[in-house]
Parts: sequence; structure tokens; C-alpha cells
Amino acid sequence: MNKTTKLISLALCVIMAAMLFVGCGNQQSALERIKESGELVMLTNAAFPPFEYLGNDNAVAGVDVEIAHAIADEIGVSLKIVDMDFDGIVTSIQSGKGDIGAAGMTANDERRKSVDFSINYVDAAQLIIVMKDNAEITTPEDLAGKNVGVQSGTTGDIFVSDETDAVPFRFKNGADAAVELTNGKLDAVVIDEMPANLIVSTYEGLKIIDTPLTEEQYAIAIAKGNDDLKEIIDGVITKLLESGQIDAWIEEHKLASGS
Ligand code: GLN
Repeated sequence: MNKTTKLISLALCVIMAAMLFVGCGNQQSALERIKESGELVMLTNAAFPPFEYLGNDNAVAGVDVEIAHAIADEIGVSLKIVDMDFDGIVTSIQSGKGDIGAAGMTANDERRKSVDFSINYVDAAQLIIVMKDNAEITTPEDLAGKNVGVQSGTTGDIFVSDETDAVPFRFKNGADAAVELTNGKLDAVVIDEMPANLIVSTYEGLKIIDTPLTEEQYAIAIAKGNDDLKEIIDGVITKLLESGQIDAWIEEHKLASGS
């Protein structure tokens, strides 16, 4: 090899090494990205009290925000909250637009195809809300042929669409569905238990049918294959569950969400 050829092959090696390095950069794990940016990005839909709602100062508050703060503290970074439509959260986690989906999100098999979940932190169920004077609807079978409001893309939506003969009407959030129920445009709303309780105490003339339709657990969604991040989140949740802190936050945010 003459000098020029040597120089060219050396330059090529440097370029290839640089390309490899950039390639590796793209493979960065979620945890590495969080640490490097100094920011944990939480995706949520702030219309699901007491888990997430807009507080007095219009900042997103709630049980999930408290948990996400504890996770950010554990990693040693700040927390950034992105408020978006619930039905976009899983794909946004998948595409790396956020690090954690904390949204009173039920860990179910369908979503497990797209994301990983932390350990569970709350037991939940779907319930039916109707007008107080409604004597017609007392069981899920009674929903057949009825106009039933759900929050788009939620497990309430899945239950009503797949398990009943009702006509589903999809809304961006439970409050919008509740308004249509009080207006008489819907016969019922199916939504998670805790938001259901808050809806009934907020809007006059509504009642809950006390039979749970489903058994569900909430967990935090992360992009697949991030075991190091999952380990940190599971550790934080375990401590919060053991100390009773999550229950305490639920009580606190039921009161603070103003219902
Ligand atoms: N738990 C329900 C679900 O995961 C609803 C969550 C929500 O509306 N924020 O689909």
C-alpha cells in the first residue's frame, strides 16, 4: 500500500467507526435517554380524576403525577408532563415520544403486544352510570340496543363494543360523556370506578349501578425491552404500595379534584 491508499483506508475506518457510533446512539435505551436529557417524559390524559386532572393553577395533578415524580426523583431527573388523547398514549410510547404512560392505564394483553408494563398499582373495574330515575338498566345485558357513552380507546370502550349489544358513543373524556347523559342523548356511560364516583358527585341526577363489569389493574406503560427502567419503576411502586402512600394520594386527590 502506498501512502495515499493508507490514508484513504484510515479515513474510511474513521468514517465507519463514526457511523457505528451514531448507529449505537440510536439504540440508546429509554433509561439512557432519560438520564442524558435530564428529563422523564410522562404521557397522560388529564381528564381522569383522581389519577390525573387539571389543578387550580391549570397544571396536571393527580395520583399518577405523584408516582411519576417519585420515579423521576429516583432516577435523579426532572419530570415533564405531556397531556394528550388517551387513545394515542400507547403508540406514542412505542415511537419514543414519551418515556412512561401514566394514565390510570389498565395493563391488558392487547396493549402488552405494543408496550411493557410496570407491576400493578391499583385495582379497578368498569361501572355503569345512568340517570337516577332509570329503572330499565340494572345489568350489562340491559345495555343491549342502548346508546352508551365511553371514553375512546379505553377498556370501557372495549367492554361495551365487544361484550355488549349496546351502541357505543366514543368521547375524548368521561366528563363529555356525562354531559350527554344528563342531556338525555345517552342512556348510560361506562367508565372506571373512581372517575365514575367523581362524575356522579359532580353532575346532578346520576347514579352508579354497583355491579363491576370487569376486573382490571392499572400499571405504567414503557417502551418494550427496557428492563432497567422497569426495574426502577417497579422498585418505586413497591415502596409506595408498602408504605400506603398510593392509597393516601388517592384520598388526597379525590378531595383536591374538587368533587
Ligand atoms: N383504565 C382505562 C383504560 O386503561 C381508562 C383509562 C383512562 O381513561 N385514562 O383503558
